[in-house]
Amino acid sequence: MDGQVLPKVDMADPGARIASLLDAQKAGWAKDVTPDHATRDDRLKRLDRMVVDWQERFCAAISEDFGNRPAVVTTLTDIVPLRAAIRHARRHLKRWMRPRRVSLAWTGQPASAVILRQPLGVVGIVAPWNYPLNLMLSPLTGALAAGNRAMLKPSELAPAFSEALAKAVAETFTEDEVAVVTGGPEVATAFTSAPFDHLIFTGSTAVGRKVAEAAAKNLTPVTLELGGKSPAILDASVQFDKAVPRLVWGKLLNSGQTCVAPDYALVPRDRVQDFLAAVKAEVDRQYPGLPANPDYTSIISPRHFSRLTRLVEEARETGAEVVELAGPHDPDARVFSPVAVIGAPDETAVMSEEIFGPILPIVPYDMLEEAIAYINHRDRPLALYWFGEDKGAQERVLSGTIAGGVTVNDTILHLAQDDLPFGGVGASGYGAYHGEAGFLALSKEKPVLKQSRLSAVKLLYPPYGRFSDWMLKLLGRFG
Ligand code: NAD
Repeated sequence: MDGQVLPKVDMADPGARIASLLDAQKAGWAKDVTPDHATRDDRLKRLDRMVVDWQERFCAAISEDFGNRPAVVTTLTDIVPLRAAIRHARRHLKRWMRPRRVSLAWTGQPASAVILRQPLGVVGIVAPWNYPLNLMLSPLTGALAAGNRAMLKPSELAPAFSEALAKAVAETFTEDEVAVVTGGPEVATAFTSAPFDHLIFTGSTAVGRKVAEAAAKNLTPVTLELGGKSPAILDASVQFDKAVPRLVWGKLLNSGQTCVAPDYALVPRDRVQDFLAAVKAEVDRQYPGLPANPDYTSIISPRHFSRLTRLVEEARETGAEVVELAGPHDPDARVFSPVAVIGAPDETAVMSEEIFGPILPIVPYDMLEEAIAYINHRDRPLALYWFGEDKGAQERVLSGTIAGGVTVNDTILHLAQDDLPFGGVGASGYGAYHGEAGFLALSKEKPVLKQSRLSAVKLLYPPYGRFSDWMLKLLGRFG
């Protein structure tokens, strides 16, 4: 580790603290602009070691922040995919770093050309609270693989985790390699206003807009990983015994506090009651005895719990049918038992805002084209799910809609594959990461042309005359 003494900073002034850290990281970067494979691999190895050493403390801290989140959920969603991403990066790093030879058109020959993949410098990463470890350290994996330094800003709604992360990172990296800045929206605002070489922001669409604006002032490029309402289409050809367990698993993982959770279900009108019965039975199978089931994650804060309660109440008041899918809620433990909502008007919050909780609106449809139009008249979703057996209908949905990513006949899983780029589109964000896509998002692909001793370009030097006219005609025709 290339340790260095950082200047003293006023901890009460987050802007100064952030500026000082950024200066130190930029100075560190300038000493080794394009780190070699061994340096990058060593950073990734230390990151992996840190995750292993801190696994139990991370699981405990995350559970403390939620009120209850089973260690198995954190292991499944935060630890295992993160370690897989680090392993994947280490396995492929040499190939990703290699310069790409490019063959030139005859007009460029006999020069040669390569594309070099270089680090951008210092990357700022802002993450939300729902999968606080994975959504912070998976972008960091791409940043370190690409040879960057990074500053991390975890969510203030995950204070125990943020403290653990700050300690773990300080133990593993020098401050000019990777540093953690903790604090609320004021710190977050100062952080995203700092002149990073790239920012990766994961969070809500509303805050994402502010981040994009702040970054624009510095011309800092941003990857925006946002949210939105991700639909699940149950096709007329669907078999509920296959589809419903997968849908319920994706909806209730982390109690619906998942960016790619299926937000609502489009269901053939004549099968809505059968669907409801299948969902209710499956909820009972996966989470018997709610609200006293320890496998079920609590809602992150009283404010978020009250919001979910309001969504359901508003839907009920506007005439929607509200169906309790399990036992009652437990507000003290912030256990919000799953609820289905049928026929809520478009203007209600449950139909217009991302739900981010265990409420499942059901939207009945008659023709597939109606379901496709329903999706296309709304913001572009982060994820889309299609369940069914009819390949023709599947193709109509895949080619007829635009979404950040799709899983066919399951939920969530496209996110867990390092060879698939992950990112939103439109209101669900822009840019992508994971695997090589993450490496490239945080690299500069620098084209380099190397001129040969023999070059014909001088035939086009002035003074111009009949010969240059003839050359231009030739180039216009064959160039
Ligand atoms: P949020 O937007 O409220 O907060 C995210 C982060 O932004 C936090 O670290 C917070 O401190 C910071 N922040 C708050 N105000 C800010 C400001 N003015 N300027 C800069 N940063 C600011 O989101 P959340 O409630 O933590 O997370 C839930 C949202 O995140 C949902 O919309 C969900 O869909 C989305 N999400 C997206 C993904 C994805 O990969 N696309 C993953 C998880 C969550």
